[in-house]
Amino acid sequence: MNGGMNTSLQRGINSMIEQIDAPIATFFTSCVHCGLCADACLFYTETQDPKYTPIYKLEPLRRVWQQQYTFWGKLMLKLGLSKPVTDEELSAWEPLLYDSCTLCGRCSLACPVGNDIVYMVRKMREGMVASGHAPDDLKGATTRSIELGSPMGITLATLQAHIKHAEKETGLTIPVDKEGADYMMVLSSAEIADFSEIIPALARIFDHSNVSWTFASDGYEGTNSGMQIGSSDLAAVLLNRIVNAAERLKVKYVISPECGHAYTALRWEGPNLIGRPYPFAVVHIIELLDELRAAGRLRTEGMDDTRLTFHDPCQMVRRGGVIEQPRNLLKQVASNYVEMSDQGVQNWCCGGGGGVSAIERAEPLRFQAFNRKKAQLDAIHVDTIVTSCSNCRNVLQDGLDHNHMKTSVVGLTELIADHLAAKGP
Ligand code: SF4
Ligand code: SF4
Repeated sequence: MNGGMNTSLQRGINSMIEQIDAPIATFFTSCVHCGLCADACLFYTETQDPKYTPIYKLEPLRRVWQQQYTFWGKLMLKLGLSKPVTDEELSAWEPLLYDSCTLCGRCSLACPVGNDIVYMVRKMREGMVASGHAPDDLKGATTRSIELGSPMGITLATLQAHIKHAEKETGLTIPVDKEGADYMMVLSSAEIADFSEIIPALARIFDHSNVSWTFASDGYEGTNSGMQIGSSDLAAVLLNRIVNAAERLKVKYVISPECGHAYTALRWEGPNLIGRPYPFAVVHIIELLDELRAAGRLRTEGMDDTRLTFHDPCQMVRRGGVIEQPRNLLKQVASNYVEMSDQGVQNWCCGGGGGVSAIERAEPLRFQAFNRKKAQLDAIHVDTIVTSCSNCRNVLQDGLDHNHMKTSVVGLTELIADHLAAKGP
């Protein structure tokens, strides 16, 4: 399209042209510039910097759409009244597309004309990857996922060591590659690296509830770095590992772990990404625990009067519709449970989803964005925040430490495992 354009820029622009579909065209056409998406985005509310207005983060994509797909845009480009998108602009937009967007979807919910800004950011990230303008930290995480099997470099040997330790701790056998099990459990590398107590917790719960389950030696990592960086091709490669393992083991269900983006990738986007339907169903671990609770198969003892609240992970609550299940479980166990303001679908992001927590340079902005969560917490004075995403858990802990707050953070699955009633006869 432009003789003077370098190859990677050309590739990026071509990718954006390919990504622009009917929904994107409709979203740009429908935008009434009301600015309501700004007030929904914690990067804007906590900085008041207009560059963090969600729709503005898509400005280069809007120009490409206008110049390639509209009569006036084509004419203005020809007359030199509209400038082609440059490499320098894409560099300048990299922090807007990555460091300051967690793909939380709050803006999409707020837009009065229904523009799905997350959908647009994801599409534009495809162009950013193609043009070489994705953050180095995310490139590294994606390379490790493809080459080593996990963005944090968690190998099968590491998982096996944790399994062995968990077996010793619980006295239970943890199945790996058990063909014909009902459920195949997937983990996120953050859980294995930072919260490995999840493995004995799962073993105790599944033993208590008599669930037939297994890990797969070739499909244990649920984190999808391809989805976070914006490469559907790589997202499909990573997803296929899980799907192939589930098919090999002939399981009926795959359990998505406490990881928001793993759930979105596996539960909502998987079949479209890999281009075929699954021969199994996907259930989030919290959905499964709530099903077991409702069936009388998950019985718990009440806990002390620790005052606790629940942080809704964006991908579960807003993009996934898992709202009541964690609350049903918490209310069964906790005696002093309080809701945060804006709970449920309106909850504010922890500030580190969508790959943001992996971008080192984004840390100061992430701490600024955390002020929103801090204000929510300051209003309710809780001892503990419970959540069901290991990335949220890490980001919340970072934010609390940064603000010298003493509140602790725990995973819901572990909380349930710690309060299981004695196993029935
Ligand atoms: S998805 Fe969330 S972080 Fe991204 S622009 Fe929208 S509100 Fe902001
Ligand atoms: S809320 Fe929707 S219509 Fe309003 S500025 Fe944002 S994208 Fe445009």
